[in-house]
Amino acid sequence: MQKSLTTLSPTLAHPSSPIGLYIHVPFCRSRCHFCAFYLQIYREDRAHDYLTALFREIRLHAEQQTLGGHRLNTVYIGGGTPTALDPSELSDILDSVQSHFGLQADAEITVEAHPDTVTVEGLTQLAQAGFNRISFGVQSLNEGELAGMGRTSLSDRTSKAVALARDAGFTNINLDVIFGLLGQTLESWQSTLAQVIALDPTHLSCYALTVEEGTRLLIDIRRGDCTTPEDALQNAMEDDAVKQLTAAGFDRYEISNYCRPEYGCRHNKLYWESGEYLGVGPSAQSYVGGARFGNVADLKAYQQLLADGCLPIAEREQLDPEQRHREALIFGLRLIEGIPSEFIHAHKLDGDCQAKIVQLLNDGWLEDTGGRVKLTATGRRFADSIAVELL
Ligand code: SF4
Repeated sequence: MQKSLTTLSPTLAHPSSPIGLYIHVPFCRSRCHFCAFYLQIYREDRAHDYLTALFREIRLHAEQQTLGGHRLNTVYIGGGTPTALDPSELSDILDSVQSHFGLQADAEITVEAHPDTVTVEGLTQLAQAGFNRISFGVQSLNEGELAGMGRTSLSDRTSKAVALARDAGFTNINLDVIFGLLGQTLESWQSTLAQVIALDPTHLSCYALTVEEGTRLLIDIRRGDCTTPEDALQNAMEDDAVKQLTAAGFDRYEISNYCRPEYGCRHNKLYWESGEYLGVGPSAQSYVGGARFGNVADLKAYQQLLADGCLPIAEREQLDPEQRHREALIFGLRLIEGIPSEFIHAHKLDGDCQAKIVQLLNDGWLEDTGGRVKLTATGRRFADSIAVELL
C-alpha cells in the first residue's frame, strides 16, 4: 500500500462540468454468494465507528477543497446495503454532504436499498431528507434462485418495497436484476423480468452473473459443487431482456442499463463519460483532476487513518493525456450510442491504439455510423475483452 496522504489537492479538469460523490456503506445483513464488494456484516458498534470516520473524511475533503468548491450534481450512496443504517443516519450523511460541498438545485440523489430493509416511515424520512432516487437490489424474483445465492429474501418483498417507496414519495425507482444465476432457466428469467417490468420502474439494470475472486460462488465452483452458467444461455437471456424491455418502452442506453426516456442514471453516466467523481468510505474509488485514487478496503485501517488526520487513500495514479483518452474511449464504448468518431482522431490516441481500433472495425466488433463509433451487437457480448485489448 502506498503511503496515505494528509493532503490531496487535485485540480478539477473541467470546473464547469458535472461532478458526483459516491459514498460506500460497507455493511450488509449477510453476504450473497456472488458478491465481491468490500463489506462487513452489520453491527451497531461498527456502524457507529464507520460514521464517525466518514464524517471526518467528508470534512477533510471539504477543508482541502478537493472539489474546488464545486457544488455536486449527483450523490450516490451505495454499498453494501445503505439501508442497513438507520434512516436518520443516512439523513445525517446527506446533511453533512450538503453543508460541506453543497448540492446543485436539481441534484440527483440516489440511495441503494435492500427490499427487506425498508419501511414506509424510513423511506418517507429519506424522501423528506432530499433523496430523490432509490435503487433496489432485487437480483431475482424466484425464491429458489434467491436461496441459491444466499439471500433469505422472499420474492414478494420487492413488490411491497416498491409500493412503500411510491407511498413515501419516490418517483424515480431503479431495480437491479441478474441473469445467468445458478439453476436459472430462460423461463424463470423471463418471469422475473416480466414481474419487474410490471412494477413500472423508471430504470432497470440487468447484469450478467460474473464469478469473482474471493466469493463463496467461486469456492463452490472450484469444489465442483456447481458449474458456471453456459454462455449460450446467458446470451439468450440477454437477448430476451433487450426484446422485453424494448417492447415495454425502455431505452437501452448502456450495455447493462435500461431506462424510461429522461431517466438515465446521471451518476453512473459520469463513469461512462469520463466525468469526475469523489468516492468516500472504505474501498471507494475517485477520479478527480485526471487522477484516479482509491481508499483502503479495510474498515479498521480506514478509521485509524482518519483518526490520525489522514485521508484514507491507498493508491493514486495521475493519468497522462494519452491514458485519459484511452480510458474515455473504453468507458464511452459501454454506452450504446458510443463515442463521436472525431474523438478517435482529435485526441491523438497512440498508433498502437489507432491500429487496434481499425482492426476492431474491420473485424466487425466496432462500427462507425452516423458520426459515432460504437460496439456492434456482437461486440457488446465481448465488451470486457475489447476493453482489455484497447488498454
Ligand atoms: S446485498 Fe448486495 S452488497 Fe450485500 S452482499 Fe448481497 S449483493 Fe453484496
